[in-house]
Amino acid sequence: MEKIAAGVHRFRNYIYPHLRGMFGELAEGQQPHALMISCSDSRVVPNLITDTRPGELFIERNPGNISPIYDKTAMGGVSASIEYAVAVLQVPNIIVCGHSDCGAMKGILTPKAVKKLAAVAHWLSFGPKLEEVEGIDDPTERLRVLTELNVLMQIENLKTHPSVAKAYKRGDLGLHGWMFEIETGVIRAWNEKAGQFLPWPPDPAKSKPAKSKGNR
Ligand SMILES: [Zn+2]
Repeated sequence: MEKIAAGVHRFRNYIYPHLRGMFGELAEGQQPHALMISCSDSRVVPNLITDTRPGELFIERNPGNISPIYDKTAMGGVSASIEYAVAVLQVPNIIVCGHSDCGAMKGILTPKAVKKLAAVAHWLSFGPKLEEVEGIDDPTERLRVLTELNVLMQIENLKTHPSVAKAYKRGDLGLHGWMFEIETGVIRAWNEKAGQFLPWPPDPAKSKPAKSKGNR
């Protein structure tokens, strides 16, 4: 714990004094831009990869960034986070963020590895099934496709939550699927039109053709 204790000391004595004003404003409440459902993986840090500060993201983290369907048997912390973020905080966006080299997704690909981990195995049953990527031989590709399928599946699961369904139908809630690549730091987002995950946000220089001035 020494490293963590030293960090707490630095935060309290050197970092917090610079953020006192921000925390003072936040002391009265929060109005986050999004609920982010990401993996518990220590390498995926939502505030770091979005360069956001306290108060800006409402975060739910669990192995495999899973949001089980709204069902009495799967009702728990994740459902409560979703309900609170959407119905009470009225977040305008939900981001489901998968990532490269995800241990949870690897667990689905190798059921033997999680056989003795009863809680993990049960949790992963809310993810996609191994059969869905059986035709893919390349192990890297299998993992990537499964991880992407999982993100899309969890977005569909979100729509079974009454609070989400209501806000989504009203047009008050955006649902976004992301893939974070640890090695490069790149985020790819699900693009419905293209039917694939594309680097996000798009490079403004590439996505918007320069407007021509005048008639020439
Ligand atoms: Zn993961």
